[in-house]
Amino acid sequence: MEIKRNQYVIDGLPVTKIVEKYGSPLYIYESAKMVSQYQRMTDAFRDSKVRIYYAAKALTNLNVLKLFRELGSGLDAVSIQEVRLGLKAGFDPQDIIYTPNCVSIEEIEAAAKLGVRINIDNISILEQFGHKYGNNIPVCVRINPHIMAGGNQKISTGHIDSKFGISIYQVPLVKRVVETNNMRVEGLHMHTGSDILDVDVFLRGAEIILDTAMEFAELDYIDFGSGFKVAYKPDDIETDIEMLGTHLSARFNDFCKEYGRELTLIFEPGKYLVSEAGYFVARTNVVKQTTSTVFAGLDTGMNHFIRPMFYDAYHEVVNISKPTGKTRIYTVVGYICETDTFGWNRKMTEVSEGDYLLFKNAGAYCYAMASNYNSRVRPAEVMVHKGKDHLVRKREVLEDLTRNIVEIDL
Ligand SMILES: *Cc1c(COP(=O)(O)O)cnc(C)c1O
Repeated sequence: MEIKRNQYVIDGLPVTKIVEKYGSPLYIYESAKMVSQYQRMTDAFRDSKVRIYYAAKALTNLNVLKLFRELGSGLDAVSIQEVRLGLKAGFDPQDIIYTPNCVSIEEIEAAAKLGVRINIDNISILEQFGHKYGNNIPVCVRINPHIMAGGNQKISTGHIDSKFGISIYQVPLVKRVVETNNMRVEGLHMHTGSDILDVDVFLRGAEIILDTAMEFAELDYIDFGSGFKVAYKPDDIETDIEMLGTHLSARFNDFCKEYGRELTLIFEPGKYLVSEAGYFVARTNVVKQTTSTVFAGLDTGMNHFIRPMFYDAYHEVVNISKPTGKTRIYTVVGYICETDTFGWNRKMTEVSEGDYLLFKNAGAYCYAMASNYNSRVRPAEVMVHKGKDHLVRKREVLEDLTRNIVEIDL
């Protein structure tokens, strides 16, 4: 997105025109940004045999999945439904890694039947899977290296009390289960959480996994998970992907020599690929001056866009109806009957009722976490692809809220 001739434009198209065409509130995705992020990442790791598996849960629209498939990406799925969506989007089953947590053995068996790669994150499931399939279906094992990382408690997954992965200290037990059941471990996996700032943290986790990898003789890949941070504020530091690429590729290639085989280095980013490609636009219903604050009240709320309230996430907001002009301070709130504040004390060009406000970084974990709270319908999604706007998901209607209701005689 940029400002051109005093208008905000996405890939050449004025954003206010797009919202007027499809209605408010609206999610807009810029496919060119997804493509460039994907390329930036593969470029950063060009020195090793790298493969990206897009983490479907960040933004699950079928068209987004298809776009990544066409780029050559694989898919990281965390539920059997995401697996099925991936297959529907045309992914080869072997290009899907299924990485669930605390799901039933039945769901894992269903995924195995579909032929996708299975990533196992606890000993109990490893045993059950081994009893059933022996060496017929290879597995990937999710290791928790106990590296403290991640922007906050809700999104860090590697700490000692985390429910994710099999503790690095239980590797001897993993090996015993694997040997007893004659299983083949084709991959090792770690994912320490979201919003990792420090390349050194990544590399430390990587060392632990590479050490462990020496204990498994039949590996094809090592999956280093994700957690790449992108900028949410203008001065935010993001993960230095080029530096990580240089260091990790070199280390990984050395490892492969020592291991005796060229393995694939896998990443499964979500946020990095789609966060900045997404915009959420809403209309200002009311400008409300109280004794101490000026509120801009929007035609949306935490039901459509919950990250600010749920994770205390900062999302930059701009008044796209007035790209330039004098500024004032606003607190931007939703219409839900709870305190749903999108941002406090934000400096914006003067907001009038009817103005469209746009939130940045609305690609990852935004539509994907939207709900029908307060019996509001979920917004439409539009993708700007090759200079054209396409509706990629219709706005819901009242019928969507009642279709599964069974009315009884009362
Ligand atoms: C959520 C998740 C990801 C993606 O994380 P981002 O921070 O969005 O890049 C990758 N792998 C697994 C297993 C996940 O659960």
